[in-house]
Amino acid sequence: MITKLKKVFLISLIVIFCFSNLNTWSQEKTIKEDKRVLFISSYGPSFLTFKNHFNIIKSQIPNVQIDVEFMDSKKFKNMENEKNFYNTLDFKLKNSKKYDCVILSDDNALKFYLDYQKILFKKTPYVFLGISCNNLIEKSKKLGFGAGIRENTFAIETINLAKKINNKSKELKIVYDESDTSKKEFKILESKIFKIKGLNIEKIKTNDFSKLEFKKKINKWNKNTIILLISAYEFKDQNLNLEEVIKIFNEYANAPVYPIWTLGIGSGFFASKAINQDEMALEAGKLVRKALTEGQLYSKDINLNLKGRFIADESLVIKNGISKSVFPKKTIFVNKKISLVEKNKKIFIIIGLSFLLLFILVLALFLNIIKRKQMQKELMQKHQELYALYEQIESSEEILKDQYDQLQKNKEIIQKNEQRHRLIFEASNDLLWDYDFETFENYFSNSFYEFFGKENKELFKNISEFFKLIHPDDRDKIKLKFYNLTKDKESVFCLEYRVLCKENIYKWILTTGKVLKDQNGKINRIIGSHSVIDDRKNKEEEIKRLAYFDTITNLGNRTYFNEILKNALNKNEKNQVVCLLDIDDFKFINDTYGHYFGDEFLACISKKIQSLNLKFSFLGRIGGDEFAMIFNQDHIRLDYFIEEIYKLSRKPLEILNKKLYFNFSMGILKDFKKENNITDILRKIDIALYQAKKNGKGKSIIFEENMDEELKRKISLQNDLRNAIENENGLILYYQPQKNIKTMETDGFEALVRWMNPSDGMISPLDFIPLAEESGLIIPMGKWILKTAMQFSKKLKMNYGKEFTIAVNISATQINDPNFVQDFKELFQKEDMTPKMIAIEITESILMESFDSSVKKLEQIQKMGIKISMDDFGTGYSSLNYLRKLPINTLKIDKSFIDDIVNIKATSNLTQFIIKVAQELQMLVIAEGVENQEQLNIIRNFGCDIVQGYYFSKPLSVEDVKKYLEKEK
Ligand code: C2E
Ligand code: CA
Ligand code: CA
Repeated sequence: MITKLKKVFLISLIVIFCFSNLNTWSQEKTIKEDKRVLFISSYGPSFLTFKNHFNIIKSQIPNVQIDVEFMDSKKFKNMENEKNFYNTLDFKLKNSKKYDCVILSDDNALKFYLDYQKILFKKTPYVFLGISCNNLIEKSKKLGFGAGIRENTFAIETINLAKKINNKSKELKIVYDESDTSKKEFKILESKIFKIKGLNIEKIKTNDFSKLEFKKKINKWNKNTIILLISAYEFKDQNLNLEEVIKIFNEYANAPVYPIWTLGIGSGFFASKAINQDEMALEAGKLVRKALTEGQLYSKDINLNLKGRFIADESLVIKNGISKSVFPKKTIFVNKKISLVEKNKKIFIIIGLSFLLLFILVLALFLNIIKRKQMQKELMQKHQELYALYEQIESSEEILKDQYDQLQKNKEIIQKNEQRHRLIFEASNDLLWDYDFETFENYFSNSFYEFFGKENKELFKNISEFFKLIHPDDRDKIKLKFYNLTKDKESVFCLEYRVLCKENIYKWILTTGKVLKDQNGKINRIIGSHSVIDDRKNKEEEIKRLAYFDTITNLGNRTYFNEILKNALNKNEKNQVVCLLDIDDFKFINDTYGHYFGDEFLACISKKIQSLNLKFSFLGRIGGDEFAMIFNQDHIRLDYFIEEIYKLSRKPLEILNKKLYFNFSMGILKDFKKENNITDILRKIDIALYQAKKNGKGKSIIFEENMDEELKRKISLQNDLRNAIENENGLILYYQPQKNIKTMETDGFEALVRWMNPSDGMISPLDFIPLAEESGLIIPMGKWILKTAMQFSKKLKMNYGKEFTIAVNISATQINDPNFVQDFKELFQKEDMTPKMIAIEITESILMESFDSSVKKLEQIQKMGIKISMDDFGTGYSSLNYLRKLPINTLKIDKSFIDDIVNIKATSNLTQFIIKVAQELQMLVIAEGVENQEQLNIIRNFGCDIVQGYYFSKPLSVEDVKKYLEKEK
């Protein structure tokens, strides 16, 4: 590629070089350097045409020296001048080397040559130009060794051109003088003048005018005049040179000047048809070259018919507003503004060529770069492919190496494994064995003998002998396993059983093994191990004991109970009974005497039950104070069982030197085999137990199907109640007046809740309050009751201007709520209560659960100034001792006392006593359930403060309270 480029570059350089030297190169070949040429000009050196002629001729013979001699015959037109010129030339020619060619410009020079040829020039070849005289040319022809060009004139064609250019022209002025050439040309023109039509012709011979007169004359001519100038050098008073003539015409003539020679066109004259001086000089130059190269010229070389050309001054064409199209096609326009490009055409061509070359070079370079890039890309691609291939090879080599390494490792592992297996077999603590059924070959590990004793080695030769060592209870399951193995049901086995070891005791072992069979499915080999699992088995037993047994009583626990029940359900036995026994008020015992005592108590009870020697299939403690028993009625009669159990509660238990009476409730489910599942069984005995407790402790209840219904109803009621509370819909508060026994004025009311159930109508609080307590619904319900009661109290205050005390019943569950006090205080503030406007009633059941915390809470309420009443006093523990410790303001004697107060003396006395104690403790006393005047009288005498009962009013709706209070006024 690069060599190609070099070639292109070199060739281009050569082309440019040749082009720039084309002329010189072709000429210098033939002309020798020592040639000499003489140039004789008819005129002076200032004559414009001379310089032009000289340069053009010189360009044809650039290396040849040309000597110039000026005759100046135009200026000095006399013989003396000619004589002097002759002398000078004669002197010069005699004292210098001979000329090889003489150039003769214009008629006078040729005439001089021809006149003095023999003396001065001998037969030196000569070239003439600018010759219009036919005589001279004829003479030259006769001489025979010179050649040249005749300078013809074209006056008629010039006049026709002028007419064409300005068709308004009427006048033709022919200007000439008396010089030889001029006279000659004028004569020629005169002979042809008939050819000119439509023009007034005036002939002006300048010799007839002074310069001034001439100026005036030409100044009168209008612009449409055609001035044909033959010559105007000679005037009456003086002779002028070309420049001066041109100047006169330029300044004074209004019309353009048409000379018959080209001389002056471009310097002021307008246009002409004439011999082109440059062409003529070029022709002459060629003849000089011929004379120098060939050594001679001939008369046949004379050019008589050099064609005339139209020549015009372009700047004047433009100045006079003449269209160029009027001129003939090949007209030469001179004096045009030559553009830089034209002037420096050669340089521009060189530059252009250089640019072209550069462009070619750049293009080639560019293509080269593209091609190289492409190759580079291809190379890169190839390289990448190669690299990828290399990597592939490398990675597969790696893989191969890895595989080889892996193989090696595997081999090592296999070897190690073999070794290890041998070692394991020898050293294992397990008793390994391998029995071949075909060869009867056996193999046992050392530990095997250590376990069974070496003397027993023979035993294993025969499987049936080995069976003798197995615990009789476990033999069946092993036989079954072997049976399954032979029947193809299993191929791997795993068995736990006891065998007689060398110490002659049974130990637990785990046998695992695999059976190998031949093609026919016959067992041919068994391989396996025996592991001694005695320790594990013992631990399992212990864990089982912990998981299934209760540590306090050593009886089965709930898990065990469930297990047993499950098994019992599976058995087909009828009349199986399950019984749940619950110690009454065990919590009270626990709280009072402490947990240690409680535990002792439970252990003692369990011993007592066991000591009854009833044939239970299960006896266990399945909860805190709950015992479960399972037995079959066919073995123990149910009534006998109940009788025997309750016998226990008749005598006190002696625990840690304390004697304690106790009682219990029992729920019983007969023939539980009928049940579907354990859950049902558990639910049903729970229901029975619940019923027993509800019916007032110390009782046993046998489950009946309708109990289930009750429970379901209870659940549905609970749902209804939840809805009622959530939607505040169906719950109403009734208010029962409480009267001051002295004034018999109503001081307050007890708020009592009612529930209008959409399906069952009005439901008693005795029925739904326990439900609400059990389900926790009492908390939201209690809040609603408190809020409603407070709002009612506020309303009463507003309507009657008096603060009535509204007593609200608060259940134990409510007090246990950790937020109780906080919620109460917030409500109290929100409803804008004063302490007198609200009171609370509690029952002794509060004391049964978390006594201390309840007391603290009540104290906080009391500190607010709120009165607390102990409701239903006399029905529970009713310990007067407690009263001291409790934050109580009022004792509310239960209705049952009032009921009997008239008729039963003891009750009356007791009531009186209670009132006295209360007064001592500075408590007020309320009597509730007062139904008649008698009762009222008695309690008034006893000093009771407040009364409440149907005698005064039943609990009233809000409306009825209004009526009631109106009536009282
Ligand atoms: P209690 O707190 O002992 O309420 C007194 C009960 O005795 C009311 O029954 C009342 O109607 C009734 N009673 C009042 N004077 C007489 C009378 O002269 N003769 C008869 N035979 N009965 C009379 P009630 O309204 O059925 O309430 C029953 C129980 O329901 C209440 O017993 C109370 O323990 C509970 N309870 C009622 N309302 C509420 C409550 O708003 N909250 C709580 N936690 N428990 C309430
Ligand atoms: Ca009450
Ligand atoms: Ca009561």
